[in-house]
Amino acid sequence: MQLLDGKYVAEKLKLEIAAEAAEVLAARGRKPHLVAILVGNDGGSETYVASKMKNCEKVGFQSSLLRYDPSVSEAELLDKIREINADENVDGLIVQLPLPKHIDPEKVTEAIDHRKDVDGFHPVNLGRMMRNLPCFIPATPYGILLMLQEYKIDTAGKHCVVVGRSNIVGSPMSILMARNANPGNCTVTLTHSRTKDLKEQVLQADIIIAAIGKKNFITADMVSPGAIIIDVGINREVSDKTKSGYKLYGDVDFDNVAPKASWITPVPGGVGLMTIVGLLKNTLASAKKEIYKS
Ligand code: NDP
Repeated sequence: MQLLDGKYVAEKLKLEIAAEAAEVLAARGRKPHLVAILVGNDGGSETYVASKMKNCEKVGFQSSLLRYDPSVSEAELLDKIREINADENVDGLIVQLPLPKHIDPEKVTEAIDHRKDVDGFHPVNLGRMMRNLPCFIPATPYGILLMLQEYKIDTAGKHCVVVGRSNIVGSPMSILMARNANPGNCTVTLTHSRTKDLKEQVLQADIIIAAIGKKNFITADMVSPGAIIIDVGINREVSDKTKSGYKLYGDVDFDNVAPKASWITPVPGGVGLMTIVGLLKNTLASAKKEIYKS
């Protein structure tokens, strides 16, 4: 078994991003700029946004965090998004999910200018991704592609089973792995909670991408020898053994699955760190106008 080491790859790619950010600063007189909107104070969201902001600073981006009380109205939030859309000093805009129940996440996603949608959730970017056109790819699937690329994993012709069909991970991942691209060119099975005989499906996989949100859901008896395992899950449990007060678990039972795998991502230290890299690369591409020219 070999580790797909998110920490190593993320640090390496962040050095490259920092060098390009310095070039942007020299050429344009300003740094790439990411704005994040955080509504409320959900513990997980706080951690993710803080990490995104910290990493922006680390690679020489400007970052701005706009915080809102959970009682903020949908109209006020949409007005702010329109204001940021029009701000020429902003390259990327993300709204951390989940949002309070009275705010429609679809309206928020669609309000963001697709040319600043560095999370890659806007229908224009998702549509362009389907057609294999330049677009902002959702950050987590993008991070996974970068990881596969870095380790030169040959995916062509392999059977990839994706478990979970969310709009932000499972569904886009299934499309990306099936595209005529590298990484890609897989035969893909997309599974979910209504899939019959899930175990038999997963056993057929050369590549398993687990994005379910259930601790240790993929067990050793579901995995064929030599499979490549990408664990997207981040399941937080309270712990008195860690400084932060919680411990993270993946969707894959790492200890028992790893000995059967050819390659596997750890949790933490795997996909989560690559998601940040995906976001940074999208923001940089926006600042350089690589995807949309105007
Ligand atoms: P969602 O809750 O949106 O989707 C979960 C998916 O898993 C659904 O499609 C659901 O099926 C499926 N599922 C649930 N139970 C089962 C089951 N028993 N059998 C088969 N499929 C099942 O989750 P996300 O995609 O947003 O996130 C998944 C995990 O990844 C979470 O732990 C999350 O924290 C983590 N995550 C990690 C990121 C990272 O950077 N590493 C980024 C984003 C998420 P159905 O559609 O039928 O309900």
